[in-house]
Amino acid sequence: MHSSDDYDIVCRYPAFEVRLNKFGGQQGLFSTESYNQGDTLIQFSIRSTQPSPTYLTIQIGEAEHFEFEPDHLKYLNHSCNPNVFLDLTNHTLIAETAIESGDELRFFYPSTEWKMDQPFDCNCGAGNCLGSISGAHALSSAQLSNYKLSPYIQHKLTH
Ligand SMILES: [Zn+2]
Repeated sequence: MHSSDDYDIVCRYPAFEVRLNKFGGQQGLFSTESYNQGDTLIQFSIRSTQPSPTYLTIQIGEAEHFEFEPDHLKYLNHSCNPNVFLDLTNHTLIAETAIESGDELRFFYPSTEWKMDQPFDCNCGAGNCLGSISGAHALSSAQLSNYKLSPYIQHKLTH
């Protein structure tokens, strides 16, 4: 866990902060509230959809990728040991674990993305880190069995 000295607050929103990691230069979304597992952090909506993915979009269909409303949810980073899940049926951000005020919020990108626009090497530090993250298509069913997945990803795995 980083101390707050590692970060600059970029912007504040109700229940959230966008912070900049001074060392890595990466921005992330942090909680300013505490939650129990299963709690809803926020209800979001779909601002716009487009046929191709970008590093800011969330996949909901073969050629259907959306941007968040509110916009600051785009700062959600990836973790192989996520503390939030995007419920794309109810359009809610759900606590996967207990969350403390000051925790960075991270979801598992392959839980929504089949083939990502910008694959990357993960440094999330989780003991179960999968290393290279490029979407669900590149992971085994054994690896994916540890995660909650979106309806679209579940559909892709069975068709
Ligand atoms: Zn990782």
